[in-house]
Amino acid sequence: MPVTVAEEWLNACAGCEISILNTGEALLDLLPQLDFVHMPVLMDHKYFGQTGNEASMEIPEAVVGIVSGAVRTDEHKHVLEEMRKKVKFLIALGSCAAFGGIPAQANMFKKDEVMEKVFRHCASTDPSPNPDDPSVPQWLDSCKGLDEVVKVDITIPGCPPHPDWIAEAITALLEGKTAWALPERSVCDTCPVIREKKSAGGPIKRGLSNLEFDAEQGIDKMRCINEQGFFCMGPVTLAGCAGKAGSPRCIQARTPCRGCFGPIRKGARPMVDMMGALTSVGLDPKTVVDRRAIMNRYIGGHGYLTPLPARPVR
Ligand code: SF4
Ligand code: SF4
Ligand code: SF4
Repeated sequence: MPVTVAEEWLNACAGCEISILNTGEALLDLLPQLDFVHMPVLMDHKYFGQTGNEASMEIPEAVVGIVSGAVRTDEHKHVLEEMRKKVKFLIALGSCAAFGGIPAQANMFKKDEVMEKVFRHCASTDPSPNPDDPSVPQWLDSCKGLDEVVKVDITIPGCPPHPDWIAEAITALLEGKTAWALPERSVCDTCPVIREKKSAGGPIKRGLSNLEFDAEQGIDKMRCINEQGFFCMGPVTLAGCAGKAGSPRCIQARTPCRGCFGPIRKGARPMVDMMGALTSVGLDPKTVVDRRAIMNRYIGGHGYLTPLPARPVR
């Protein structure tokens, strides 16, 4: 008998759902064992009845719940809480769901500052825009990862998560396991570049100049990006973006890791650890331009930085 699955997306971009499709042949093997009973990205589902005639939200019960996206509005929170009530195992799919991801970058500013800048003081193609219309879902004070709102059973980080891990986590559940997690390793642990544990020092370079490498040779012949004086978040980022095999994806593309897989473990202090990693190769962390913005995607249930003071929206 197939296992029922309900899927939801909150403050999401659908990249995580594309990654489910990208599981490819593994998905073909899994599909006969799964029965998708709810998936708004694929099928139109009216939460309050087909004509809005119901008073309470309808999400069907399922054994497995998969939720992508962060929790930005009161509607997202309501949908997530309903999902938690209706499913036995809840999977947070992708970095937005895991710890806020890209939408949580708005947490650098207070809610009202963002509303003011983005929705009240910009040109609109709508002749009568009203962001305060009560029928529009209201923003929460901050953008959250799922586990800041409900209990999460399995987290599959990544922006988007690699299909290997989606297939592996779902297979684990089908085999009766109740837990699955990526090993706690850093991107650097899986990166084959040349490391000499020192840099030339000086201020950290911005991405306005080029890395040094020979395009005819593999990345195992390229010097570590941090040691070349650039800012690479590999030391504090969870490994896994290349799936079960291969080198970190951005490094393969000769560009620094920007931390999309999130912190290596819950409760980590990635800002502090990153500053230590830079110092250890002779770079001055104080010279990272706007390091708070660069590190902000870590804000959320995992790897919390520090409460951020308000600052003007520019
Ligand atoms: S984790 Fe990335 S791919 Fe998934 S919803 Fe968020 S932004 Fe999109
Ligand atoms: S800092 Fe970046 S380039 Fe250097 S080893 Fe780590 S992931 Fe690779
Ligand atoms: S190298 Fe870093 S930013 Fe790039 S895909 Fe991997 S984890 Fe994400």
